[in-house]
Amino acid sequence: MAADPADLLRQHGIQVTAQRIAVLRAVSAQPHVTADGVAEAVRGEIGAISLQSVYDALSLLATEGLIRRIQPAGSPARFEDRVGDNHHHLICRICGRVVDVDCAVGSAPCLAASSDEGYEIDEAEVAYWGRCPDCVARRPARSRSNPRPRSHALKTSRSHRRAVSLRPKR
Ligand SMILES: [Zn+2]
Ligand SMILES: [Zn+2]
Repeated sequence: MAADPADLLRQHGIQVTAQRIAVLRAVSAQPHVTADGVAEAVRGEIGAISLQSVYDALSLLATEGLIRRIQPAGSPARFEDRVGDNHHHLICRICGRVVDVDCAVGSAPCLAASSDEGYEIDEAEVAYWGRCPDCVARRPARSRSNPRPRSHALKTSRSHRRAVSLRPKR
């Protein structure tokens, strides 16, 4: 995030508080961070903050479009400050690592559904599930048997899950 967090809050008409600035900084410093991770970072910066206050701040910032919330299946919600480009994510089933990936087809990809059924679509959430390079290197031979509860989603290591989420237009 290039802009000053306080300026960003003001630009969005949000009252500037030390907690909100710290939360925004934490998300900015650690893309795809969980609320717990944010709480930890904020406590390191400004001292005590309740988890509820962290949730409140995250929720406000997401609603106002300063941060984006993603929730991979089986994972707590994660937050990032890369917003507006509707990029996709690669998610490791083993260690949970999440990385950004641009869509191959454009800057606001996949918003042209094959059939929109009359919905006004503003977001397409695509998650590519598999194993990250570190986890592949650690357990190269492993394939079929996956004891983890998310195994129902495992078809191949490159299984591609796609979900389109529809949000009310702001
Ligand atoms: Zn991994
Ligand atoms: Zn991302």
